[in-house]
Amino acid sequence: MRPEILFPLFTPVSTLKGVGPRVAPLVERLAGPIVRDVLFTLPQGLIRRTATTSDRAVDGQVQTFLVTIDAHLPPQRSGQPWRVRAWDEHGFVTLTWFKGHGPHLERQHPVGARRAVSGKVERFGSEIQVAHPDYLLDADRVADIPPIEPVYPATAGLPSRTFRKFAQEALERAAALPEWQDPAWLAKSGFPAWREALALVHGPQAEIDLSPMSVARRRLAYDELLAHQLALAQRKAGKRSHPAPRIVAGPLSDSVEKALPFRLTGAQIRALSEVRGDMASGERMGRLLQGDVGSGKTVVAMLAMADAASSGLQSALMAPTEILARQHYETLAPPLEAQGLAVILLTGRDKGSARASKLAKLADGSAAVAVGTHALFQDDVAFKALGLTIIDEQHRFGVNERKRLQDKGAGAHLVAMSATPIPRTLELTVFGDLDVSRIDEKPPGRTPVATRAAPTPRIPEIIERLKAAAQAGAQAFWICPLVSESEKIDLRDAEQRAAALRQAIGPSVGLVHGQMPAAEKDAVMADFVDGKVSVLVATTVVEVGVNVPNASIMVIEHADRFGLAQLHQLRGRVGRGARESSCVLLYDPPLSETAQQRLDILRRSDDGFEIAEKDLELRGGGDPLGLKQSGFPAYRLADPVAHRDLIAVAADDARLILARDPDLTSPRGQAVRTLQELFDWKAASPLNDAG
Ligand code: ADP
Ligand code: MG
Repeated sequence: MRPEILFPLFTPVSTLKGVGPRVAPLVERLAGPIVRDVLFTLPQGLIRRTATTSDRAVDGQVQTFLVTIDAHLPPQRSGQPWRVRAWDEHGFVTLTWFKGHGPHLERQHPVGARRAVSGKVERFGSEIQVAHPDYLLDADRVADIPPIEPVYPATAGLPSRTFRKFAQEALERAAALPEWQDPAWLAKSGFPAWREALALVHGPQAEIDLSPMSVARRRLAYDELLAHQLALAQRKAGKRSHPAPRIVAGPLSDSVEKALPFRLTGAQIRALSEVRGDMASGERMGRLLQGDVGSGKTVVAMLAMADAASSGLQSALMAPTEILARQHYETLAPPLEAQGLAVILLTGRDKGSARASKLAKLADGSAAVAVGTHALFQDDVAFKALGLTIIDEQHRFGVNERKRLQDKGAGAHLVAMSATPIPRTLELTVFGDLDVSRIDEKPPGRTPVATRAAPTPRIPEIIERLKAAAQAGAQAFWICPLVSESEKIDLRDAEQRAAALRQAIGPSVGLVHGQMPAAEKDAVMADFVDGKVSVLVATTVVEVGVNVPNASIMVIEHADRFGLAQLHQLRGRVGRGARESSCVLLYDPPLSETAQQRLDILRRSDDGFEIAEKDLELRGGGDPLGLKQSGFPAYRLADPVAHRDLIAVAADDARLILARDPDLTSPRGQAVRTLQELFDWKAASPLNDAG
C-alpha cells in the first residue's frame, strides 16, 4: 500500500496551480500523468542572467536592464513587430513583440513607467534590442528575476519557464522521506538526502549541477536503479520459489554428446553445467544463454533436452520463424533420434490429420521433444509432461507468448537464448530477473570475417567481384535495410537492387522482404539454403536468421544506420564454413568521424561483447545498442551508460536488503517500500519479463 507521505506526489498534474484542461495534456505528454512525474522531469540546461546597462550589453547574452518606457511604436505594416522604446541612463533599449500584444502592452507599461526587463540581447551596432523579453516587471520587483534559471524540456504551448513553475510546486509537495540508502554507502558517496537532491537538481547553480556526475543526480539515479533492482530481485526470488521437477544429467545426454562431431568449447561446458545446476535444484530455472550467433547455444540446449528426457520429461524449443524452427529441427532431430528420442516439428503449416497426429504424440508423451514456432503454444497443444522450454531469440516473443508455452508444463524450466550481445555492465538492468550464462568463446576453426567499409559509389565494382565469386560457387547476402519513412520506398530500393544484381549476375539472385507471404519467403530461403539462389537480397535481419554455411559474403547497405550489435549479428551469418568470408559495409559518403570509429570497431573485433562495450563507450549514452527493442527499462533519472558503475552496486544492495529482510519489515525495509512505491516498480510490474 502506498504510504500517506507520498499522496501529494500521486495526484494528477491538474492539481498543480496553473495546470488547467488546456495545459494538463501538454504536461502529461512532457512528464506524465501525476505530480511525481513532473518532479522527476529534470532540467537540461540553465540560463544565467546578468544585470547590465544599455552601453555594456553583450550580444547573445541573457541580461537584465532597469529602464523607463519611452514610447510604444505600433507596427507600420503587417509582419512588423510591436516595438517599445525604453531607456536607461546610457541609451535606448528596444523591446519587440510579434503578434498582437500591442494595446495590452500599452496599458500594462505606459510611457514613463519604470521597468525591469530581461531577455536575450541582440545588438546591432549601438542598437540594443530584446525580442519577446522573458521578464518585464515593475522596477522594484527586479529581485524576482532569478539570476540563474533551470531550463526544462518544453513543447509547443508549454514553455520551459511555465514548466519550471510546475516543477517548483511539485518540489514543494515532496516531503523528506525516510532514508532507504545504506548510511555507510551514502556517506562514502557524498550523496545528499533524497529531498535535498531533488532541490539541488531543480535549482542548479552551475553547469556542473546538471551533469549526470553531480552527486545529486547520482543519488537520484541510484534510487531509481535500486528500486528497479529490488523489483527484479523479488521477481527472481518469486520465480525461484516455484517448485519445479528435478532434472539430473543422465547417460542419454552423455551419448548424445559423445556422438557429436566436435567437442564442446569451455564456454559451452560452463553454460551447460550452470543449466544443469539449475535444473537439478528443485526450483524453477530461468536462465538466459547469451552468445554470438554461431557460438553454439543450440547444442547446449540440446543436451539439456536430453537430460529432461532421461528424467521422463518433455522439452519444447520455440523459434520465431518457420525457417529457424525447421533448421533447429534438422539439427536436433538426428542426434536425439539416434538415442531413441522422438522429435517432432510443429509449425503453422501443419494442418489436419498430420497436425493431429503430432499433437497426439505430445499429449501421450511419445514425442520427447517438440521444435516449432508460435504453433507450439496454441490452446489445443497439450504435453504429457513438459519439463523444459527453450526460447530462441527470446526478444522476438512477447511476454505472454513465452508464458503460454511455459504454462503448458507444471513448473517447466526455462532457457532463453539471445544473440544480442549486452555488455556485462548493462546485463543486470536488462536481464536482472534471469540468471545469465555467457557463451563468450567461439567453436574452433572459424575464420574471421574480413570486414571493410566502402562508399556507395563503389557498388559497381563490388557487384563485379560478387559476380566472380558467385561463378566460383560462393553465396552472398545483400542487405537493403529499411531506412526511409516509407516501406514502399525501401521495398522499391530493394527490388531495384535485386534487379540490378540479376542483370549483372544472372537469374540466381533472389529477394525476400517483410511484406512477402510467408510461404513465398520460405521458398526463396529454401532455394538459398539449397544453393539454387546465389545472392539473396533481403530487407531485414529477420529473414536471415538462418544457417547457410556456404554463404561467405555479406554486403550491408546503409551500414552507418545500423547499431553495431546488429551489424555484428548480420556479419555472423557468414564465416561459418570453410570458405574465406568477407563483409562489406556500404555507406553514403561522407562518413562522420564517430561513424568511422564505429565501423572501425567492427573491422578490428569479432567479439560481440567487446563490440557492444566499445560501442557503448563511443556513443556515451542514448540507446546505443537498440536496447529499447530488447526490453530495456525506460529510466527517468538514471542513465544506464553514465551511471553504469551504480548498476552493479544497486544490484548487490538489492540482494543484500532482501536477504536480510525479505519481508521489508525493518525500519530500512519500510523506507525501501516507500522507495518502491515512489517508482511504482514492484515485483509484479511487467518489466522486461523474459520468463
Ligand atoms: P547459435 O545457436 O549460438 O547461433 P549454433 O548452436 O547454431 O549457434 O551453432 C552454430 C554451428 O556451430 C552449428 O553448426 C554447430 O553444429 C556448430 N558448433 C556448435 N558447437 C560447436 C563446437 N563446440 N565445436 C564445433 N562446432 C560447433
Ligand atoms: Mg541460433
